[in-house]
Formats: sequence, structure tokens, C-alpha cells
Amino acid sequence: MGLNVVDPGDFKDLQVKEVSCSQALSLSGLESDYSLNPYRGCSHGCLYCYAPCVINESREWGSFVDVKRNIPNVLAKELKTKTKGSVRLGSVTDPYQEVEKLYQLTRMCLLQLKKAKAHVIIQTKSDLVTRDIDLFTEMDVDVGMTVTSMNNEFRDRFEPGTPTIEERLSALKKMNDSGVNTWAFIGPLIPGENDDIIQLEELVESLNAVGVYELYLDKLNMRDGIWSRFEQVLDEDRVNRYREIYSQRNRYFQERKERLQKLGKIIF
Ligand code: SF4
Repeated sequence: MGLNVVDPGDFKDLQVKEVSCSQALSLSGLESDYSLNPYRGCSHGCLYCYAPCVINESREWGSFVDVKRNIPNVLAKELKTKTKGSVRLGSVTDPYQEVEKLYQLTRMCLLQLKKAKAHVIIQTKSDLVTRDIDLFTEMDVDVGMTVTSMNNEFRDRFEPGTPTIEERLSALKKMNDSGVNTWAFIGPLIPGENDDIIQLEELVESLNAVGVYELYLDKLNMRDGIWSRFEQVLDEDRVNRYREIYSQRNRYFQERKERLQKLGKIIF
């Protein structure tokens, strides 16, 4: 597969920098043994993303991507020496964000993981993931799609750089039709924005219609850096409302958990 399918000029609003890395796999406590992030930064720029807090990144989230050009080679070497285990692709970045069309680092890493017969867990918001169905059908992989709301207006405000909900559902259908194991991550649930039970039931029905029955829900994880991003985009009343709910968050989320139990596996 050639590399020049996208012109670097397509990323004109994004600061794309090619960098080298000395390590590919990191020990992970996130439902896998290792995590693997081919990129630092994410053009999806979700308002609620806590990755910048996790990796101590101070640049404006969503405005830059560092491309770890040598990561497939570093990974290949590590896979020869590391203890075997599961690998989560994209714990603090989306492995199928726009730059992947050009650089294909995720695909190159998958080729190495396939060769090593590793169990791979992928989580994305992008329908670009369907490009790699040919690999998925030949390896041990589960592909998760994050789907937060049926309402694209929600996406515009909270996930400005992401594909539409229809594109994500269509990608799930394509993967299920090809026999790929899929699941959906519904979250974060943001008070008063995408936590309406009726709308969540509709979302789950849409997921079932494209063959997805394994569901995970999660609450909003408000770390300090996220409040300031919310304050830049949302009006003061709304931010204050979130603060109020978060001051009594245990009760708020326990109520939701009880009501949502029947929709799927709930992680709160
Ligand atoms: S897609 Fe994931 S990693 Fe990227 S900005 Fe959104 S939440 Fe963060």
C-alpha cells in the first residue's frame, strides 16, 4: 500500500511534526498489558479529552500532531524481546485520525502485531478504521468505536474533528459484516447533553441494528485542564451547571448507572 494517498498540505490547520521515538510499547493498566500510540496529539480535538492531562501536554489539544515516524521499526524490535501480552492501540490518541491516511503508522504497527500474533484492542472514532479490515480478519483483534450521541450538533460542539455518527455506524456495520469483533464505547456522558435515557436507548438500538451488542458506558472525567477548555467554548451558566453536578457526582452517576444497567456493561 503506497504512502502518498494524501497531500501533507491537507493538514494546513494542523501542526504536523515528524519525530522519532525510542519506545513503542508502554506498560498499561488500561484493560491491556501494553499501550501503543503512533501519534502524540489528536486532531479530533474532543473538548472532554483527558489525554493531555495524562501525557502532560501543554500545547493546545487538537491543534498539533507529532508523528512517530520510526515507531513500526521500534515496535518490531520490542516485540522480539517483550513478554507476550495484549496491546491497546491508541490509549491517548486516535490511531485513525486524519494524518493516518498519509503516514499509515497504525497500519504498519498492525502488520508487526499480526506477525507477533498479539491480541490487539483498538478504540477509535473514525471510519478510516475500515481500511484495515483485511488485517483484522487475519488477526486477534477487537475494534471499539466511540459513539457519544445520535445528535451531530453534539459532535460539532464536543468532538469537532471527528467523523459523523452515521459514518461511525456504517463503519461498524462494515466490520461486523466482515466478521470483525466489535464493541461500542458510549461516553463520556455529559450532564444534560447526551445522558437522556430515551436518546441513549435510541443510540443503543442503532448500534444493535449494525450488529453491536457489547457496550461500555463511562462518565465524564473532569480533570483540571478540561474545565478550562470547557470554559473557552461553553457559556458560563452551562459550565457552572456541570460544576454543580460534579460537586454531587457520586449520587448523580449512581442514579444513571442504575437506569442504564439494562443497556450494556456499565463502567462508571
Ligand atoms: S479522539 Fe480520543 S484521543 Fe482524540 S481528542 Fe478525542 S478523546 Fe482525545
